[in-house]
Amino acid sequence: VTSSIDRYHRQSLLAGIGADGQRRLADSTALILGCGALGCVSAELLARAGVGRLRIVDRDFVELTNLQRQLLYDERDAAEALPKAIAAKRRLERINSEITIEAHVDDVNYTNIDELAGDADVLIDGLDNLETRYLANDYAVSRGRPYAYGAAVGTSGMGFTILPHGSGDLPWENDGGDNHATPCFRCLFEEMPPAGTSPTCDTIGVLSSLVTIVASFQVTEALKVLTGNFAKLRRTLLNIELWDNDIHQLGVDGAYENGDCPCCKHRHFEYLEGESGNSASVLCGRNAVQLRPRKPDQAGHFEQLAVRLRTFGEVTVNEFMLRALVADGAKRYEISLFRDGRAIIKGTDQADDARSIYARYVGS
Ligand SMILES: [Zn+2]
Repeated sequence: VTSSIDRYHRQSLLAGIGADGQRRLADSTALILGCGALGCVSAELLARAGVGRLRIVDRDFVELTNLQRQLLYDERDAAEALPKAIAAKRRLERINSEITIEAHVDDVNYTNIDELAGDADVLIDGLDNLETRYLANDYAVSRGRPYAYGAAVGTSGMGFTILPHGSGDLPWENDGGDNHATPCFRCLFEEMPPAGTSPTCDTIGVLSSLVTIVASFQVTEALKVLTGNFAKLRRTLLNIELWDNDIHQLGVDGAYENGDCPCCKHRHFEYLEGESGNSASVLCGRNAVQLRPRKPDQAGHFEQLAVRLRTFGEVTVNEFMLRALVADGAKRYEISLFRDGRAIIKGTDQADDARSIYARYVGS
């Protein structure tokens, strides 16, 4: 107990937090959705702040190009192709051994979000795609959970904290003054743009300092939520054009009242309900496709599979995944298989292509 008081002393001195706020943080659960650039910063700051339980979910593994901005990872993680959730957990446990850190190597989808977010006091966005953001938003609105959205691409960043409208009994719905519910993500961004039309950090790059700024705003909002400082939440859409020195906040209160949001006004949660049979997702801008075979059967058979795949190219296996580089005619593909049955096929942005590569080398 004494060590905890020392550890968080400079934080519990803050008027908005105090000893009581510090205890509330210790009793809290935060869900980090995706542990790329934004997620790394959020996870590290919340771990250092003493949030009692951090749940990190990420579907990907560490690569060399991540190290420029994904602060929890190092060259060894990339060389070993460690899943990001695992590498993050290992690093964070060295930073703060007094908290619980859960790592989930998985993608977030409508079948598992309830399990991942069910007991979370706040959802923190470290996602790399809009579809999962709509899903997180559906979840947040349907369950009355705060969701700290953040995004950074190129030198432009955004942030907004969704404090969903409920039936009037949520802690941010209590008074008509500063403390009030906000529009949801879908009120602000109505429709998903066609695939491939929005820039991603893989096509136009991303400034590392921008990421730390956006994530720091998200963490600040999360700390306010977790310590019960609901009236202090920002409630504006933060817009940062960092290279052009332009930082502004957009008032968006009218977006709920004046809009006709299917999610928070009509409580129609189409992303949460999911679609059956959608087993392939193109990883935007990455020249890669994720497959989720209906009947994954290679889990636990990595060693056998590795022997077979070595006849086509280089194969590495660790306790979490198998990675194979295969030359298929003039093309080269990188096949990554996870223990949960997922596969990421790199070298194509066509779902059909990825399926046929998977069928050819892994099995159908
Ligand atoms: Zn809405």
